[in-house]
Amino acid sequence: MSKILVVGAGISGATVANVLSRNRDNQITVIDKLNHVGGNCYDYRDENGIMIHKYGSHIFHTSDKEVWEFLKQFTDFNTYMHKVVAVIEGNELPIPFNFNTIQAAFPKTLADRIEQKLLSKFKYGTKIPIKDFMEQDDEDLKFLAEYIYENVFLHYTEKQWGKDPSQIDGAVTARVPVYLSRDDRYFQNTYQGIPLNGYTAMIQKMLDAPNIELKLDTPMKSVDSSEYDQIFYTGAIDELMDYELGPLPYRSVYFKLETYEKEHYQSGAAVNYPNNYDFTRIHEYKYYLDDKSDVTVIAKEYSEDFVPGRNDPYYPISSDSNQALYEKYVALAKKKYHTMNFLGRLGDYKYYDMDKAIKRALECVNASN
Ligand code: UDP
Repeated sequence: MSKILVVGAGISGATVANVLSRNRDNQITVIDKLNHVGGNCYDYRDENGIMIHKYGSHIFHTSDKEVWEFLKQFTDFNTYMHKVVAVIEGNELPIPFNFNTIQAAFPKTLADRIEQKLLSKFKYGTKIPIKDFMEQDDEDLKFLAEYIYENVFLHYTEKQWGKDPSQIDGAVTARVPVYLSRDDRYFQNTYQGIPLNGYTAMIQKMLDAPNIELKLDTPMKSVDSSEYDQIFYTGAIDELMDYELGPLPYRSVYFKLETYEKEHYQSGAAVNYPNNYDFTRIHEYKYYLDDKSDVTVIAKEYSEDFVPGRNDPYYPISSDSNQALYEKYVALAKKKYHTMNFLGRLGDYKYYDMDKAIKRALECVNASN
């Protein structure tokens, strides 16, 4: 029999625990310092019957069939495909910025001319990160690039990251490219949807096995790690090592919930406010599962730096120096815990989407067997 400790009952920890539980010789203990499973995917139905994503909107999307099939063992999904609009000069425009956005933002003659120029230069369907898109020599395309930079990216990124787009890893803004297409969807993945009974129920099912013991309200510090043959750690590595080398930088977010006595507050699940207010976006949760209620619940999302003990780490901040610090922490942690694997957005210090976190967890557990 092998005794295994999984630290964190989020999507990464639950994936590892589930795969390991198929070998009945494994005895798996999953701990989480929170009083619920799901990590930041946690959702719950409120008193109005609306499924609230406590830590902000989670829309599942992947083109990886293996990951999709893996999750489908635990839940059915609806066919929700996410669309986002941003309020720009008072109008709601589709994001990622695409041909429909161009037509909605500009007078027709200008929009048509820009479209023609784009099509003569790029293949239809191309996705271009804003940083690359800024390099234009044509006057109209330069105007377009500056318009998008200024109205979509600059102020949103300042609010979200506390820095302007030139100061952050290009991969972050490249998540939302300029898209030379009429596809208004936020994601183009083959498989997209929301678990029909929510993420919490899906993750509970992943953890439901006779050889998995789940312990909530249980921090890593409260267990004797030497009792285990193997450990999978999905939490923050700086916290694990008592911030010995100083805190690893993360951004945190918080949500202010508001309830309105009307069917809907806004046009869709996500409306971004790059240029107005202190929040970055408003989520309206009832859209995800088409919940029926006379009221609606929205969440205004605010960003701030992570401060240990005050808020939660959400987003690793990708940079060479932060990566170097992370790697020092891994070396330190491996000296103390010989049989520890690190994974997940926090454990790997990587800005994973849910599907990438699952993929990584599947790889990690297969490599350890
Ligand atoms: N972004 C932006 N304006 C937008 C949407 C996104 O500037 O209207 C930038 C911003 O820097 C953000 C990044 O693109 O952090 C990635 O956005 P995404 O929606 O993928 O972030 P997430 O949903 O993971 O918070």
